[in-house]
Amino acid sequence: MPDLDARFMIEERTCYTLSDIIAAPDSMLSQEQYDTIQADAHKRIGGMPLSRIYGMREFWGLPFEITPDTLDPRPDTELIIELALKRFKDSPPKTILDIGTGSGCILIALLSEFPDAIGLGVDISFGAISTARCNAKRNNIGSRAGFICGSWIESIAAGFDLIVSNPPYIADSVIPTLSPEVQNHDPILALDGGEDGLNPYKTLFPKIKNILNPSGTALFEIGFDQEENVMRLAEDSGFALRTVHIDYAGNPRVVDISRGDK
Ligand code: GLN
Repeated sequence: MPDLDARFMIEERTCYTLSDIIAAPDSMLSQEQYDTIQADAHKRIGGMPLSRIYGMREFWGLPFEITPDTLDPRPDTELIIELALKRFKDSPPKTILDIGTGSGCILIALLSEFPDAIGLGVDISFGAISTARCNAKRNNIGSRAGFICGSWIESIAAGFDLIVSNPPYIADSVIPTLSPEVQNHDPILALDGGEDGLNPYKTLFPKIKNILNPSGTALFEIGFDQEENVMRLAEDSGFALRTVHIDYAGNPRVVDISRGDK
């Protein structure tokens, strides 16, 4: 929506709010504001999302810095937070692991909701880890969050009550068909899930049991057409309880798996 984008761009670079802009559309900009907004507009016309222009994105109502090393958090992913709040309503998790943490948005949102929990974010990208660390401080949960750079869960041993992940799950053949906003701005490491997009689940599911506490839950984001395959992989890995949750657009979005032993 170009009109809305234009208003956001003015709001971002001036002291005018959206309602000021609508109420007094003939207010003047300074030359400097005009030049900055003009430069932003060129980037936006070239296909750069607003979040990339400003390097910030809101997720679960919290501010997150994003960089070329991090996926731009999507509203769909907030379903993981909603599900965790429901699942742990009576007995909050004490330990949370976020695999492929990126900007840290999932872990940080969860730690903001569960004030007694501590969490660990893992990512293969060092750049992502340093951004996630800044985001944890920015959202005042820095003392409860640790971040390590590593491949999947290779170096993880401890038991977690809650494991979450939005892994790269786009199939190789689909990558060239993604919108330019995604293809040109989200890091390929955060998107590419191999030939069928299922590589992360194939790698992680057989190992998750070793680090998930007996009564814990793992919540994984999945692609809209991966429900059947991801459920099969979870079953093959011996998870007793498996459910797929639908997002607000009506697509299967999060698989919820647990060991089934209390
Ligand atoms: N949901 C993202 C998209 O549609 C993909 C993120 C991912 O691979 N985890 O572009």
